[in-house]
Amino acid sequence: MTNELNPSKRLLMGPGPSDVHPRVLRAMTTPLLGHLDPEFLTLMNETKDLLKVVYQTENKLTIPMSGTGSAGMETVFVNLVEPGDKVIVGVNGLFGERMVDVAERCGAEVIQVTAPWGEIIEPASIEEALLQNPGTKLVAVVHAETSTGVMQPLKELSDIVHKHDALIVCDMVTAIGGIPTEIDKNEIDAAYSGTQKCLSAPPGLAPVTFNDRALKVIFNRKTKVQSWYLDLSMIQNYWNDERFYHHTAPITNVYSLREALRVIVEEGLENVFARHKQYGVALHAGLEAMGLKLLVKKEHRLFQLTSVLIPEGIDDVAVRKQLLSKYGLEIGGGLGALKGKVWRVGLMGYNATQTNVTQFLAALEDVLREQGYESEPGAGLRAANNTIKEQVTV
Ligand SMILES: *Cc1c(COP(=O)(O)O)cnc(C)c1O
Repeated sequence: MTNELNPSKRLLMGPGPSDVHPRVLRAMTTPLLGHLDPEFLTLMNETKDLLKVVYQTENKLTIPMSGTGSAGMETVFVNLVEPGDKVIVGVNGLFGERMVDVAERCGAEVIQVTAPWGEIIEPASIEEALLQNPGTKLVAVVHAETSTGVMQPLKELSDIVHKHDALIVCDMVTAIGGIPTEIDKNEIDAAYSGTQKCLSAPPGLAPVTFNDRALKVIFNRKTKVQSWYLDLSMIQNYWNDERFYHHTAPITNVYSLREALRVIVEEGLENVFARHKQYGVALHAGLEAMGLKLLVKKEHRLFQLTSVLIPEGIDDVAVRKQLLSKYGLEIGGGLGALKGKVWRVGLMGYNATQTNVTQFLAALEDVLREQGYESEPGAGLRAANNTIKEQVTV
């Protein structure tokens, strides 16, 4: 016999999944309803309405797809792209690279606009690519690049893309619930996200949103969407008033998402964003006071995900292992071009608290000292607390 499930206590401060809010965990123990039960249909409508609030959009087609954030990425590309379409992808990290792969699998002719990992995609370089590639259908960028910690500014980019009659598509997996997404204000035509980052729900759903401009493109397709499971023309008939069965909705995940969104709306979106900023800034100050360097320059830093450069001579894996074994604290390593070069620290959703900043800085100081890295004792905590004091008006 195997033992009853009893995993060790963890604090998930990596790039995702992040800790699930206790109210969300409770919602997940609620008995199932059938996927066509009138009561469940009400819960679906409430979930859609809450999603619109958190995505900051009026888009009618705003629904959670079954699957993790990557299913959201596939949904956007398989529904908008047809073979031979020209697609420009901004690549400044792993998730841009992944969008290239997905778009190519849809038969797109992909034009990559690259920037070094840790920097933003300059709107001017997208404009240049649009000028060189007339007839481009779609431009895709990552709003919150979790592999680097970069926040991509969107408004100027969106204006440029629309001037060239293309659609702008955004990966908002780590953005949603952490920084303003402003789908309508930024005129983002389609976006996808995930539940396991700043929404503080478990992985399993991928909220997507499409505006009328994007819907028109889908409506005018000449070819069938190559994925049966992710074909929005069918799935929207389950999520709208038709309620046609397509596949069985993951009921428990819908419960969890609804509760996670309720938690955010209750706190207030502006307060949620301010909290991420407050503790993100505190973490940055703490790390820098310990003599550590951050990958991303200040004006482009995310608050919910921070990449810190691993100091010379310090063993990447040993530090992460020790944080986990001694403190039950998980952070992420670097991916791709940044493997072995950075640690990635998440302060996502429910986890963006002063307690977690304090706990992490103290644990890191201890573990780094054991690895031979010296910093002034307590300097990180002091600096972090000072920024919090400055920001809080009592
Ligand atoms: C996590 C993440 C994804 C992929 O989401 P999964 O839930 O792992 O499928 C895509 N894009 C970004 C920016 C992410 O952070």
